[in-house]
Parts: sequence; structure tokens; C-alpha cells
Amino acid sequence: MENKKELKTWLNNFGLDHPLVIAGPCSAETEEQVLKIAHQLKDTDTTVLRAGIWKPRTRPGNFEGVGALGLKWLQKAKEETGLLTTTEVANANHVELALKHDIDILWIGARTTVSPFIVQDIADALKGTDKTVLIKNPVNPDLALWLGAVERFYTQDVKNLGVIHRGFSTYEKTRYRNNPEWQIAVDLQTQFPDLPLILDPSHIAGRRDIIFDLCQTALDLNYDGLMVETHFDPDKAWSDAAQQITPAALDQMTKDLRIRKTTSMESEFNNKLNTLRTKIDVVDHQIIEQLGKRMQIADDIGGLKKANNVAILQAKRWNEILGKMILQGEERNLSEEFILKVFKAIHQESIQHQKNVE
Ligand code: PEP
Ligand code: MN
Repeated sequence: MENKKELKTWLNNFGLDHPLVIAGPCSAETEEQVLKIAHQLKDTDTTVLRAGIWKPRTRPGNFEGVGALGLKWLQKAKEETGLLTTTEVANANHVELALKHDIDILWIGARTTVSPFIVQDIADALKGTDKTVLIKNPVNPDLALWLGAVERFYTQDVKNLGVIHRGFSTYEKTRYRNNPEWQIAVDLQTQFPDLPLILDPSHIAGRRDIIFDLCQTALDLNYDGLMVETHFDPDKAWSDAAQQITPAALDQMTKDLRIRKTTSMESEFNNKLNTLRTKIDVVDHQIIEQLGKRMQIADDIGGLKKANNVAILQAKRWNEILGKMILQGEERNLSEEFILKVFKAIHQESIQHQKNVE
């Protein structure tokens, strides 16, 4: 697949003067719930109503979705509000049922994108469709796997495509439910600037208090839209309660988010500058995270040396590290002087950490 301007056609056809907003509950629960949320979203910036009908759960026993019955509720919500509809499909049978109920956009879940066999089955079932298909990133941070899924649809003549960035699983506990790894989405955007890129802050965050900041970062990185889980009584939602926000909160959020205009020359300059600055922020954040990890290892080494009565400063080892880093730096066009300064500072901090070990 190559980048083509046409990839954006379906989105441009909406004629929006703001990023696309997809909103709605994690799961369709009852007819009343779907209709009530749809009506509350009707006069916001929302274009598409989302609701999971079949829910992929990490462990059995959680709410697994209402099934095909819920598709009728989405249809009714569309009739009553004019919102378009979207749901997750995970096999050819889901596809058939969703098409029968006039669902406008189908999304492929993160647990499906990891499996080329299943993605291929769904792509075959959708061959030649003019429906839009949005592909969530796989749960593991693998750009090739994500793009591979997009290509499977593209080669089946599904040309209205987009991707949803919903973060990546980590074993380590972080402030996120799913680590954003912005760099992966930024790389994808660099390769396919015209493939619509949508942020799902809800599944990245896992909690509602950081959704705004995630959305702002995405808009600063020029994402094309947002998919936000929304419920009139978030705490009582049958799935993903902690991360859902009310339609009113969504409405306020879209008003508060800074959206950059690209109309005049000056704002085009500002837009590019802001995008580049946000990319720098992403890398700076990674640098701090990595430095933090390095110091934790230094703490462990400190403990080990102490237990074995070994001196903290090991000059031979330190000179080896420096030599390796200078060579690696050269490959990346970083001067020896710079590498020396940075690693002396890192080494100093490491020694301090090792000394602090009780
Ligand atoms: C969802 O959108 O509710 C969902 C299950 O998402 P994901 O596939 O990203 O986990
Ligand atoms: Mn969910």
C-alpha cells in the first residue's frame, strides 16, 4: 500500500471544520441506554455513535456484550438522531450482521489486529465494500502488524480506511492502562500522512482524568479525530466504567481543546512548528522514562555491591561504557564532546543513586 490522497476521501466527505468525533458507550447495554446517550450526543461535535455489541474480554465472566440484538438499537439511534454508527466486528458473522443493520463504520479491535488469519477473514468478508473500516493498533507495539492489517483490507478493495491509536499493553504498571508509545503512531503518520489517524484516549487512559491531555497531544500531532467512550452514568457502565465520560463532559472537552487552523501561511508555519514541538515532547518524555529506568538499575547494582562489599566506582567498566557510547553516538551524528558531557552527568547521578542505597 502506498500513501494516496484518496485515503482521506471518506473523512473529507463529512465536510467537518473540526476533527472527527466518534463517541458513545464502551458497550451497548439496553435500548434505553443507547438511545439516551445518542440523544445527549446529538447536539455535540459528535458525527458517529460508537457502541460495542460483541465485547472481547481479557478474562471470561465479564460482560460480553448484548450481541446482534444491540444492532437494532444502533439503527434506531441513527434514525432518531441522524448520527452515523460504528461497532467492532471480530469475525465474518459479525460483519454480515453489521452490514444487514446498516452500520456505517466497522472497527477492528486491538485483539483482532494481532491475528493475520482473523484479519484476512474479515477483509475477505468485506471485499469491495464502500463502508469505512477503522483498524485499531494491535495490543503489542508492532507497527508492521498494524500496517499489515490495513493492507489486508486495502488489497481486498476496501479503500475507505483509517486507523485508531488505542495504546499498547505492557506488563509493567504505568500511569496508563495501555501505553501510548506515541512514536509508533507518529511513524505511521510519517509513512502514510493521508491515512486518517484517530486517537482512542479512553483505552489508553483507563481513567477519565487524563483523557483531555491525551486528546490535546493528539491534536497537536495533527490527528484527524477522536474516539471517546461516553456514558450518561459512567460509574455504572457495564464495562470500562472508570474511563468513560458523560456526553456533557465530552462537549465541554471539545470546546476546550485547542484545534490548530491551517488556513493562512502564518498558521501553517505555527502548525508545523507545533507538530514538531510535540514530537520533541514525546521524545523528551521517553528520555526521562529511560533515565528513570537506568537509575533503578543503578539502585539494584548499588545494593548488590554493598552486599558484597565491592567499591562503587569501577573505572574499567566506566571507560568501556564511554567508548561504546561514543561510537554509537558517531553513527547518530552526535559529537564525542556531547556524548562525554551527557554520560558524565548520567554516571554522576548513577553513583549518587548507588551511594544512597541503604
Ligand atoms: C472498545 O473499543 O471498547 C475495545 C474493546 O477496544 P480495544 O479493542 O481497543 O481494546
Ligand atoms: Mn471499552
